[in-house]
Amino acid sequence: MFVSFEGPEGAGKSTQIRLLAARLEREGIVHLLTREPGGTDIGGKLRELVLDTRSHMSAMTEFLIYSASRAQLVGEVMRPALERGEVLVCDRYVDSSYAYQGHGRGLDMAQLRAVSEAATGGLTPDLTILLDIDPGLGLGRAARVGEPDRIEQAGLEFHARVREGFLSLAAVEPSRFVTLNGAEAQEPLSEAVWQAVSARWNA
Ligand code: C5P
Repeated sequence: MFVSFEGPEGAGKSTQIRLLAARLEREGIVHLLTREPGGTDIGGKLRELVLDTRSHMSAMTEFLIYSASRAQLVGEVMRPALERGEVLVCDRYVDSSYAYQGHGRGLDMAQLRAVSEAATGGLTPDLTILLDIDPGLGLGRAARVGEPDRIEQAGLEFHARVREGFLSLAAVEPSRFVTLNGAEAQEPLSEAVWQAVSARWNA
């Protein structure tokens, strides 16, 4: 089973993924955590390149770098894990490109979909947990964790478009998405995440 986590900056994905992993561990369910951009050797290098505040690139270049990282991750890590029957948890996936480079940067959605389909071979999550958060609140939280990366430095309006993008993606695919409030306290939120994952696991 493939579960992706999505959401704007500072929505709490990393914390919720950590709590979900601990729960899967307790339940004895074999799982693998990964993230993009990153998750492979080449993906790690691409992550540094794309997030470096000194990098200057067009929106299409940015999208293609994320897609390259994703293509490598799908082939090297994700498909093998799914073939082994593991629960695969990925921190961001194609919906981030649709939200950030599509809704945020204004790239053509049909082009993004075509390239993403080629990069992933059509691999789609069984469940996508969207942690929604107000962009002002989320960016404030992210700023407390460390220096802002190149994308976090984009303005509030950009991040507001990204948030709306995620919500509209969730609205058109209600059977795949479960949208939760990232501003909620950690414990009840992790319980809601577990309910969503276990319901899909047992379906
Ligand atoms: O998930 P994480 O915050 O580590 O993501 C790294 C950065 O890459 C974030 O700033 C995120 O907004 C950005 N990103 C993006 N487009 C994607 C995937 C991630 O702008 N397709």
